[in-house]
Amino acid sequence: MPLPYPDPRVALATLHGKERVLAPALAEIGLRIEPVSVDTDALGTFSGEVERTASARDTVIAKARLGMQASGCALGLATEASFGPDPIVGFVPVHHELIAFVDDVHGQVLVLENLSRETNWQSKAVRTASEAETLMLSSGFPEHALLVRPNQAFAGMPVHKGLRDRAALEHAIAECATASSDGLARIETDMRAHMNPSRMRQLRALASQLAERLSTPCPSCSAPGFGRTHAHFGLPCRDCGEPADMVRAEVWSCAACHFEQEHPRSDGRVEADPGACPHCNP
Ligand SMILES: [Zn+2]
Ligand SMILES: [Zn+2]
Repeated sequence: MPLPYPDPRVALATLHGKERVLAPALAEIGLRIEPVSVDTDALGTFSGEVERTASARDTVIAKARLGMQASGCALGLATEASFGPDPIVGFVPVHHELIAFVDDVHGQVLVLENLSRETNWQSKAVRTASEAETLMLSSGFPEHALLVRPNQAFAGMPVHKGLRDRAALEHAIAECATASSDGLARIETDMRAHMNPSRMRQLRALASQLAERLSTPCPSCSAPGFGRTHAHFGLPCRDCGEPADMVRAEVWSCAACHFEQEHPRSDGRVEADPGACPHCNP
């Protein structure tokens, strides 16, 4: 069934070639990505030249709106990634990717997210190129690009991005180590989409999730994009029946009319272990 959009164009504000991985899944549901060359780096960048001022969610929506304004499209798409140690496990790097779909036809904004440990994100301070060998190997260089800056960096200092060539990398390390007051160069994985095949894979997966979500119309207002958004807690305890600290139901909702529907847990579970019950196991 075709989606209820009079104009299938979706503006994508990007400088980083993301349309290659986002377009196929959206084409399957009849939407066409229009890449708009907008400098979204002004909203904040991975390499840290611009301070981030808004939350990731606000940033990704603002990016989508930039593309819509530049192109006149009623639909807009943008992605936003952050990388860092796993908030629960620590040390293990995780990749958190958001995708925003702004739909001015139905007056709704969908933001989907994906958390993955399949990332090459890492960073190290080195004195010489030979100290960077381990990082080069484990980061998937040169298919995955690297970035080099002085370890003690100040505004206006050189940042070498998109390094995929060993000679250029060695030159950048030497230059940045000399420029840094501590004699160290900071070498990092370049996480921009077109420089990072691992990130491209996550983006492709997220585009499929979005296409699937848009294929489901709201049962109340028929806007596209009805799907799981949050959960209700309080699964009844098997022994005493009191609400325990576990998900009781999945909640599907519509971002256009705010209609909500409760669905049973997808694993079919209807009772909680007494161990998770504040009454039986205070
Ligand atoms: Zn609705
Ligand atoms: Zn109990």
